[in-house]
Amino acid sequence: MDEERNIQPAKNTPRKKKYRILWDRVIIALVALIALIVGIVMLISALVGAIKGALSKDDSSSAVKAGAQVVSSQQETPDSVAQPVDNSLFTVVIDAGHGGEDVGSTDFDGKRYEKDDCLRVAKLVEKYLKNMDVNVVMTRSDDVYVTLDDRCKIANDSNAVIFVSLHRNYYDGEAQGVEVWVHNERPENDTALAQNILDGLKGVGVTQDRGVNFGYRGNEYVNYQVNRETNMPSCLVELGFMQDGQDNQLFDDNCDAYAKAIADAIYKTAKERELVKNLP
Ligand SMILES: [Zn+2]
Repeated sequence: MDEERNIQPAKNTPRKKKYRILWDRVIIALVALIALIVGIVMLISALVGAIKGALSKDDSSSAVKAGAQVVSSQQETPDSVAQPVDNSLFTVVIDAGHGGEDVGSTDFDGKRYEKDDCLRVAKLVEKYLKNMDVNVVMTRSDDVYVTLDDRCKIANDSNAVIFVSLHRNYYDGEAQGVEVWVHNERPENDTALAQNILDGLKGVGVTQDRGVNFGYRGNEYVNYQVNRETNMPSCLVELGFMQDGQDNQLFDDNCDAYAKAIADAIYKTAKERELVKNLP
């Protein structure tokens, strides 16, 4: 600084001045260029954001198809029949017949209770459904008595898309095999559910295919309460006769495979009948 002062002020060299003016302009130009670049970047990012927003619906539906639940899927698929619970695909109610003081039917010795077989297979169905990301509501998970009214209420409060009641059969003569019961109005979804379950069980192995039946045994004009008073597709499965040794043997040998077949049939029905949209 001092040095500069001591130096005789040079005659202003116009060349130097010119250069200074040029540098000033270059700086101004650079600032303008940077401002322009920043502006362009902001514009592009805004456009990209807008495009992403426009495409987000497609993304969510394809994600659902791929099996991945998106958090926003509930808002973006309001026409979906079933609203997923937490991260599950849909809800199913599994009803283990009888329980507690109501033992159901027994074998000839009176030592084997229907209620125990129902709970055993029901818990396995629950396990397999959960493995498929299906939310399961059990009407009972222990050896407790639950009224039929309560079973139907649990189902109707659950937002479930399917209800399946699991039983074993009773007959005082000789009978064997598996049968499924559906409301006597023969609703298509219920009938499809029953047939899918029956086909699955037959695939595992049964003594006899006793078919899909409508109404109530001995009276087709009335219905099992769990079919009559539940608001979703439902059926009642009779997994062989308690009084038939072969049926009991098959049940014991194949309980796990029966449960998997029932779980698979439930999922298949939900997908085929579109009880839940966009199932993977
Ligand atoms: Zn029963």
